[in-house]
Amino acid sequence: MKTICNTPILGFAAFSGTGKTTLLEQLIPKLTQAGLTLGVLKHAHHNFDIDQQGKDSYRLRKAGASQMLISSRYRHAMITETAHQEAAFDDLLLQFDHQQLDLILIEGFKSQSFPKIELRRKALDNPWMHPTDSNIIAVASDIDFDCPLPSFDINDLEAIAQFIIDTITGQTAPTPESAVASCDTLSPAFLSVEQGIERILNEVSPISGVQQRAIEESFNYVLASDIVCNMNVPQYANSAMDGYAIRDEDVHLPRFTLVGEVMAGQRYPQPLQAGETVKIMTGAPVPSNGTTVIMREQADTIMDGNIPFITFNKASIKAKQNVRLAGEDLAIGQNVFNQGRIIGAAEMGMLASLGIVDCSVKPKLKVAIFSTGDEVQHPSEPLSENCIYDSNRYALMGLLKPLNCEVIDLGILADDHLAIEKAVSQAAEQADLILTTGGVSVGDADYIKDVLDKNGNIDFWRINMRPGRPLAFGTIGDTPFFGLPGNPVATMVSFINFVQPAIRKMQGVNNWTLNKLQAIASEPLRSRHGRTEFTRGIYQVNEQGQLVVASTGTQGSGILRSMSEANCLILIDPLYAKVKAGESVTIIPLP
Ligand code: AMP
Ligand code: MG
Repeated sequence: MKTICNTPILGFAAFSGTGKTTLLEQLIPKLTQAGLTLGVLKHAHHNFDIDQQGKDSYRLRKAGASQMLISSRYRHAMITETAHQEAAFDDLLLQFDHQQLDLILIEGFKSQSFPKIELRRKALDNPWMHPTDSNIIAVASDIDFDCPLPSFDINDLEAIAQFIIDTITGQTAPTPESAVASCDTLSPAFLSVEQGIERILNEVSPISGVQQRAIEESFNYVLASDIVCNMNVPQYANSAMDGYAIRDEDVHLPRFTLVGEVMAGQRYPQPLQAGETVKIMTGAPVPSNGTTVIMREQADTIMDGNIPFITFNKASIKAKQNVRLAGEDLAIGQNVFNQGRIIGAAEMGMLASLGIVDCSVKPKLKVAIFSTGDEVQHPSEPLSENCIYDSNRYALMGLLKPLNCEVIDLGILADDHLAIEKAVSQAAEQADLILTTGGVSVGDADYIKDVLDKNGNIDFWRINMRPGRPLAFGTIGDTPFFGLPGNPVATMVSFINFVQPAIRKMQGVNNWTLNKLQAIASEPLRSRHGRTEFTRGIYQVNEQGQLVVASTGTQGSGILRSMSEANCLILIDPLYAKVKAGESVTIIPLP
């Protein structure tokens, strides 16, 4: 996998003659004066050459070097010959030193998908591009018109520069309501998924409190203290097979005298003598000196006169075979589990195997959930015109269940200041964590923000991802709060990526991370530069034994069916605008 590039990229869409380069030339000093370190990627249609005939570098390149790196005290340049195929946009972006840059400006690469500012001059009789190009996030022109996007006078370089600065630092001015339809068209994103998770994890801390729970009631709880082994498991050396125990030094003997039979729960009371064997059951203690067991299927009884003897098919018998040693599973004093361990089936079994009947666990995390929206209705009501049934609250309940949370269901709230204020403050008193859905996309954000500003400290973020771009996060009083996006798929994807790690940390789980695997894309997958794409996918093992993944098809963030059909999310990192069939991608298996 290539390294992830989170440097914002921004381009300019204009017909030729608009004066793109001149504008860029004037804009760049304003941006660098504001403290930004810039990269520029420019496309040239002609066969340009940057070192001239006669220069050493030129001569060496012409002599056949396919890459020529020339360096001096002041600059260096790599000249790479691409005789057969033009370099891919992705690969060109990778050549920048992303550690050093705040922004990459792009000139050209018209057909590539990334955020652009449209430039248009009255004098040139060209059509607008933004109505048909969803990559356009703002318009700069000398034409007076009613634009749904942020728009600037093409000669007002200060304003254009300020817009770019605000955009990449995450402080874009409010955008007109009319452009809300797809918030992805409004501006480039401001926090990467990783940055979002990091900020959230810095803010939340484990809840206090410990309770004792019986092992049978402990499934999915989180251990609140270390478990140290107080005994050997198994307590005694025992047989791993139904068969015959003999002394280790007797393995070469031709025949044995059967002197007894040991059932589970019994013990042969004395040491074996030379040539003696006892019949033994799986799990029964081996005689004190009979630490080789031969499975029953390898044994025969022969008669010598009327005295029976046991013989073994000795081909593969090794001394000490088929015996489980005392303490082999767990030895006295060994640390069995550290606190912070999630108790699953194996842990329940292991605790019981140590004779532990109850354990200290963290109490259930109390999570208050509510849906917001005047159009959102309870599924038991007849559906009114222009309304939808609430699906998010139920999807959240399902997501919270395997995380062993106690759900405080606060129902559906109308888009109403008072109702939301009341519910939020009530939730903050009862719950360890508050989750709401809806009301955080650009159209509503300020509205919800007003309510929350009074009660707490909430940030509205735009996460560099799809679906799930808008996200509110902060605290109401001391209680962490997530405002998840309203679109059902976005709700779930945001929960999985942001809420789940926070819940695990609050529960006291140590260093929890989302389970991710690599799989081979069995078909091309679409994405866009500069954002993380979470495509709903179906993974399986193909005939060659490889893990392969395909998308579930239609990917609208309102299409909840895509989540139900999927068994994983395919994570395409922000560097890639597409994934070709056969390339490796990250998948997040869904429960
Ligand atoms: P909002 O962020 O409130 O503008 O909501 C974004 C989209 O998600 C809108 O189409 C809403 O109707 C839809 N939506 C909001 N809340 C829910 C919900 N609880 N269940 C299903 N869809 C919802
Ligand atoms: Mg709403």
